[in-house]
Amino acid sequence: MPRDNFLMPVKRELALRSAHFCSNPYCLKLTAGPRRGSERGLGTGHAAHIGGAAPNGPRYDPGQSEAERVAVENGIWLCRECGDIVDKDEEGHPAELLRAWKRDHEAMIAEVRQQGYSRSLELLRSNQAQPGLARDIIALFEDRRLFWARFDAEFPDRVRLSLDNLRHDLTRLRERCAAGSPIDVVLVALGRTIRHFFDAVERFDLVTLRCDSNDPDWRAFETALRVLRKAIGYQIAALADAYQISLSGEFADQLPRYDGGEVAEDGEG
Ligand SMILES: [Zn+2]
Repeated sequence: MPRDNFLMPVKRELALRSAHFCSNPYCLKLTAGPRRGSERGLGTGHAAHIGGAAPNGPRYDPGQSEAERVAVENGIWLCRECGDIVDKDEEGHPAELLRAWKRDHEAMIAEVRQQGYSRSLELLRSNQAQPGLARDIIALFEDRRLFWARFDAEFPDRVRLSLDNLRHDLTRLRERCAAGSPIDVVLVALGRTIRHFFDAVERFDLVTLRCDSNDPDWRAFETALRVLRKAIGYQIAALADAYQISLSGEFADQLPRYDGGEVAEDGEG
């Protein structure tokens, strides 16, 4: 089967246009660097076809001419691994998606160039690694029943343990973003909110504390938990709004509605 392969000059243009970074916004691996113990450089990038190179290949478009198929326009720069994935998972990576990756990546690279090299890596990380990170942050909260299930709150020690783990998970996520980037600020604020809750309940013995509306300690614990849920709710709703991530399930039902910068309280207090 004939393949319309890219010629070297086309590959070079694609590598340059992407600044040698993988164009997959969730990857961004650098595909060039020095070869140790050698004068030579090392390239691990891959010029991938958006419209397939051969009739039996992924994303083949019979409407393309041979010239269109081998043009810069029809290529996207990826790392080897991503190049492999987009071809093996063709349905998950249609041509429109790859075109969007390429367009966004090149636009971002153009912006980074104008900001100067010293901030380049930071910008790369903060501009592009964030949608995935925002989703991971939200998933951490969706997974924790204490934010929406009434029952779990009846075991204060279980709440404490869950929040302790959550705090560690949030700290770990901070390794994936640049210090001071918008998403880092969100992570720090979430951590601070949880710390406020611990400060509010530290004088209680959470192992023995039980649901009892006559017990002032219990009432204080319940109030602190309600404040925590509300504060977390606002932050997660704002984060989901900023990244246009749709929330669903019981956790989402508990969240305040966030509408373009204005928080609208729902009926429940
Ligand atoms: Zn990649």
